[in-house]
Amino acid sequence: MKLSRFPRIRITHAPTPLEPMPRLTELLSGPNLWVKRDDCTGLASGGNKTRKLEYLMAEALAQKADVVLTQGATQSNHARQTAAIAAKLGMDCEILLEDRTQISAADYRESGNVLLDRLLGASPHHFPGGTDMEAALAARAEELRAQGRRPYAIPGGGSNPVGALGYVTCALELVEQANSLGLDIDCLVHATGSAGTQAGLVAGLAGCRSLIPVLGIGVRAPRAPQEEKVYALAQRTAELLGVPGAVARERVVANCDYVGAGYGLPTDGMLEALKIAARTEGLLLDPVYSGKGMAGLIDLIRKGHFRKGQNVVFVHTGGAVGLFGYEHYFTPALAG
Ligand SMILES: *Cc1c(COP(=O)(O)O)cnc(C)c1O
Repeated sequence: MKLSRFPRIRITHAPTPLEPMPRLTELLSGPNLWVKRDDCTGLASGGNKTRKLEYLMAEALAQKADVVLTQGATQSNHARQTAAIAAKLGMDCEILLEDRTQISAADYRESGNVLLDRLLGASPHHFPGGTDMEAALAARAEELRAQGRRPYAIPGGGSNPVGALGYVTCALELVEQANSLGLDIDCLVHATGSAGTQAGLVAGLAGCRSLIPVLGIGVRAPRAPQEEKVYALAQRTAELLGVPGAVARERVVANCDYVGAGYGLPTDGMLEALKIAARTEGLLLDPVYSGKGMAGLIDLIRKGHFRKGQNVVFVHTGGAVGLFGYEHYFTPALAG
């Protein structure tokens, strides 16, 4: 596997900690639970997009881009981290935001990530739910090019093979941390959406011949299309790394039973997971991704999916800033 040949901007506070969660483990009386703190990547409140942006923005600089653009849902953590790294590199940033949830509350539209996007100086463009956002992104890039600009367009979630390299790096980091702790990891669990995180993890683990299984908990699509999306991207990532065919299809597993009514729409399981993580470990999850991911992990433990004595690592992908976009939901839900 050839990872070091890819240009990279080192910005992540890495290695992110790998910490035990003893009180959560005890509460659930299942496997030993650990958390990989990728919510602590250090860029404008952190999250998993930072690692992807290390490679994507290096490519943008190599192409001498002067404006970076990307797309996501209104409360996109990816858009916020892209706005931050663009600011840090002195580049203009445009973010195309889709009203994917159709939540009309003022906090959802103005606070959380949206507030930080503004603070970081990004220019937002708003689109109705159901817009073909990748097409909108390409159209805006074309417009900028026609104005004589040099745009660099990042797909939603930073999920292409270059972005996924960020999670190849994370896989190697985790394997090294586990080795130095003498920790035999039985499973990695994390929230999966645009697929780059899981694709990078499975490609990285396959590339170093690690047998650690990865379980993605879906936040949007049903299982079959989600697994296909992850597998396709993992294969392309392995090709980019010079290890074509390294990822076996059965290494890509997603469970999409915890999405609820749709992307970004709260579920009771998410609320319970947020409270449990906060009150046992002081750990802040987010309503859209890590909250649903943890809801899945908790439910699977209760159903006996893992054995006592196994070591399960939850990859915390960040997003707690999004909590402030859901204040209208939490204030009544947390009362009493
Ligand atoms: C984007 C995101 C994810 C999902 O990662 P993908 O690479 O898009 O699958 C998970 N958690 C948080 C907090 C995110 O912002």
